[in-house]
Amino acid sequence: MARYGILSDVHGNLPALEATLDHLEAQQVDRILCLGDVVGYGPHPAECVDLVHERCDVVVQGNHEEAVLDPRVARGFNGAARAAATWTRFVLDDVRHRLIAAWPLMAETGPAGRILCVHDSPSPGPSAYIHDAGLATIAFRGFDGPLCLHGHTHVPAVYRIPAAQARGRVDGGTVQGPTPVRLDAGWRWLCNPGSVGQPRDNDPRASCAILDCSAGTFTIERLEYDVERAQHAARDAGLPDILGKRLAVGA
Ligand code: ZN
Repeated sequence: MARYGILSDVHGNLPALEATLDHLEAQQVDRILCLGDVVGYGPHPAECVDLVHERCDVVVQGNHEEAVLDPRVARGFNGAARAAATWTRFVLDDVRHRLIAAWPLMAETGPAGRILCVHDSPSPGPSAYIHDAGLATIAFRGFDGPLCLHGHTHVPAVYRIPAAQARGRVDGGTVQGPTPVRLDAGWRWLCNPGSVGQPRDNDPRASCAILDCSAGTFTIERLEYDVERAQHAARDAGLPDILGKRLAVGA
C-alpha cells in the first residue's frame, strides 16, 4: 500500500517547495498529492506551477488559483493578497493559466478512490476554513469516505469522527510532527498538512505530511528552507512588504 507525500498552500514560494519535494522524494513516497494554492502571495508562481505540474500526481485548485482565473474572486481578498493575485495573473502566461484552469476542485485517489483531496472543505458552498472541531463537524457532512485531505488554514491539523455514526462527536485539532497520528479504522478523518510556503502556526519551517496507508499513519514533517531567498525575491518582485516579512515568523 502506498505512501503519499501531501503538500498544500505553496503560495509561490520556490525555495520552500524545492526543500519539500526533495524531502518527500528522499523519503521515497510513491505519489505526491497537492491540495491547491500553488500560487498567490509569493514571488515564484510560474516556477511553482511548473514544478507541481511535473512532480505531483494529483493537484486540486485552491482559492488563489480561482482568484488568478477570475478577478471577481480576488476582490474578496485583503489588500496584500489581492495585490499579489493581480500581479500573479499578469506574470503567468497563457499556458500556465490553462494548466491551472485544468486542475479540478476535488479529486479522489488511492484504493477505490478512498482518499478525497480538496483545498478548503469537502462541504459544498462558499470557501470555508476548518479551524476547530465545530467547523470540522460541518465538513464531515460533505463526504462519505474514510479520509479527506485538505489545506487552506495553513495550520497542520487532524480531526476524526466515529465512522459508524452519522452525527457522532468530532474531536481533534492542530498537530505537530514528528509523532505520527494513527488513523484508526473505526473513524473517519480530516487531515491538513499545513502550508509549504506560508505557515501560520508561528513555526516558519515549511510544513508537509506523509500519509502511510500500510502503517495507517499521517505524519507532519517540518523543513528548514532558505527564507531569505524567498524574501529577497518577494522584494524584487515589488510585492507588499508584509508578504516577505511574515515568512520569517510563520504567521
Ligand atoms: Zn492558502
